[in-house]
Amino acid sequence: MTDPFFQPPSGTDLPRYAGVPSFMRLPYLAADDPRRAEVDIGFFGLPWDGATSNRPGARHGPRALRDYSTMIREMNRATGQKPFEAAKVADLGDVAMSPVDQDEALENAQKFIAGVLGQGIRPFMVGGDHLCTLTVLRELRKARGAPFGLVLLDSHTDLYPPYFGGETLTHGNPFRQGIEEGCLDPERVVMIGMRGTSYNNSDFQYGYDHGVRIVPIEECMERGWTSTMEVAREVVGDGPTYLSFDIDFVDPAFAPGTGTPEVGGPTSFQAIQCVRALRGLDVIGADIVEVSPPFDNGGITAWLGASIMFELLCAMQP
Ligand code: MN
Ligand code: MN
Repeated sequence: MTDPFFQPPSGTDLPRYAGVPSFMRLPYLAADDPRRAEVDIGFFGLPWDGATSNRPGARHGPRALRDYSTMIREMNRATGQKPFEAAKVADLGDVAMSPVDQDEALENAQKFIAGVLGQGIRPFMVGGDHLCTLTVLRELRKARGAPFGLVLLDSHTDLYPPYFGGETLTHGNPFRQGIEEGCLDPERVVMIGMRGTSYNNSDFQYGYDHGVRIVPIEECMERGWTSTMEVAREVVGDGPTYLSFDIDFVDPAFAPGTGTPEVGGPTSFQAIQCVRALRGLDVIGADIVEVSPPFDNGGITAWLGASIMFELLCAMQP
């Protein structure tokens, strides 16, 4: 029996442009709301881009994705799934993250995520820049007591050493840090879609040295996306796996609203196919990051991002 409380209002009852825009029009449950105890999968925003090395704006991602996600309907026609009936999904709100203090921002995010995991909710983080992912990886590692696998769809590995001469973390190194801190099992990490110019090859080399499987865009295009995603499934196997989707994975012709675009990537449809191919994995959490509304045109990136969120939500379900 589906609980009506967790069903988004239909666009045939309340027009989809009307109402308060929570993620996918789902109920918003504050931290002290008793109904949080029933939630299976929780969306929450990390509106923060303090680790962005180039063009900022991803702090505005969660709000734009809430807005555009109101256009999502109840059924996935391609897979036949009805993700709001199969699981209780809710909007858990945003974390207050200081735009000027990285340590405080990350700490607040981790406290919030610890609370979410403590309530038995599978986390779905909406960024924010890609360093936001590290906060989820850290808390999942603590809660599970063991490292886990990762499927990354991105045009970058985010395995770079710290930039600007110091130890400061950026959105270029969440996965290097995640490996260093023992959150990720590097042999069960697969990174898909890497392309563009680079300062050097130190990120790929770090990955190779630690057993990470990197599938650059040339290999993706040569294999085709079906074969590429078979590689991804082989690498992570049936163990616990985190899914991370950086919107710059998609070609900037389809997703211009992001800080570090790289040309020559997959189309919107190919990106959606990649996410669908992940269904059936043991998904312990997911995210979408790096949607930067100030660089968007006509909302096309936000709309693609909201659509990818829906596909990820479906991929998290049987
Ligand atoms: Mn990234
Ligand atoms: Mn990227």
